[in-house]
Amino acid sequence: MNFILDFLRQKAPNSGKEMPVYYRKALRVTAVLLTVYFLASFTWFGLAGGWWEWVPLAAAAVMVATLFNVTRMGPRLAGLIVSFVVEAWCAWCVHSFGWSSSSQQLLIAPLMLSFFNVSEKPPLKILFWSNLVLLRMALYAYASVHVEVHVLSEQIRAIFLIFNTVSLYTVLACLCILFSSNVQAAERQLRLDNQELHKEAGTDPLTQLPNRRALMNDIRRFLEHSSQEPFSVAIADIDFFKRVNDTYGHNCGDYTLRTLADKFRAVLGDQFGICRWGGEEFCIFMPGLNLDEAGVVMHDLCIAVRKMPLSFEGVDFSITITIGVSENDFHSPLEAILEEADRKLYIGKNSGRDQVVL
Ligand code: GH3
Ligand code: MG
Ligand code: MG
Repeated sequence: MNFILDFLRQKAPNSGKEMPVYYRKALRVTAVLLTVYFLASFTWFGLAGGWWEWVPLAAAAVMVATLFNVTRMGPRLAGLIVSFVVEAWCAWCVHSFGWSSSSQQLLIAPLMLSFFNVSEKPPLKILFWSNLVLLRMALYAYASVHVEVHVLSEQIRAIFLIFNTVSLYTVLACLCILFSSNVQAAERQLRLDNQELHKEAGTDPLTQLPNRRALMNDIRRFLEHSSQEPFSVAIADIDFFKRVNDTYGHNCGDYTLRTLADKFRAVLGDQFGICRWGGEEFCIFMPGLNLDEAGVVMHDLCIAVRKMPLSFEGVDFSITITIGVSENDFHSPLEAILEEADRKLYIGKNSGRDQVVL
């Protein structure tokens, strides 16, 4: 029942004559299909029974007028006109051909149009729903006490039924395509936007590497699924980075961080997780590698950074990094393993820098 309560609590945007594109399309498609339906009715009524009635022609004319004025009328008026024409048509058909004309089925089309109109308030939709229910019951009551104007043969009644059913289902199918494709497109866009936001929230804007939160999530996910697998983590810190900033300027410092991130990506590839841990520190997550194996990888990284040429505004320079590595001991929490890597990093800093401490 919650969905009914949610529906009743919905707030409608005060859109005035401004109409959502999907709804304008839906009204136009309905108007076109109904125009065809009324013109076809006029033709086949005449051909089948010689009932060259003016009502279907008048209904078709109103539909054409609505079709070309949907935007000017706005969603409510255009929707009401379509509904009024369909209701009047059903009443006229029941009066002329009796309940078995089955044209009253068409009342479902305005019901659907009304409920898919986002700019209409829920109480008005419910009022409209009751109007259609009452009309249908009233028509049934009318048909059961009044004799129809044109008594239909079995054959014509069957044609009428098929004609109305095909027409109604065509209108409903078109409306379903329009409404659902709009909702699906909106949902797809929302998911893409969410993905983008999620990515942005987990990305360091300077280096475009994942940030600390994103890497921690990756490691936790790994631990959830492969708690028995070895892994190692390393924390790498640029040596004397403050000097780079102080000597060549902050922009050069930024350039160095970006170039270093590119080097990390090039050396480590997709196999390992890399993130900007903060400032001039990076964290490397090596799933499946024990301490010795991780030491070899970090050694290569250390050498690659030492050899990395840097050039900013005509000045050539180089940097080195110090790395502390620790491995999963299968009983310490993740935070303790990272602290261990950090502790080793500082051992490396205090014993000459530009090295890997295992
Ligand atoms: P150590 O070898 O002991 O690590 O020395 P260090 O100079 O690298 O360390 P320290 O912590 O003294 O200085 C780190 C510097 O990194 C200070 C800070 O301004 C700089 N830094 C941190 N983040 C950024 C950044 O995003 N851009 C730039 N340009 N500098 C940054
Ligand atoms: Mg440093
Ligand atoms: Mg530091």
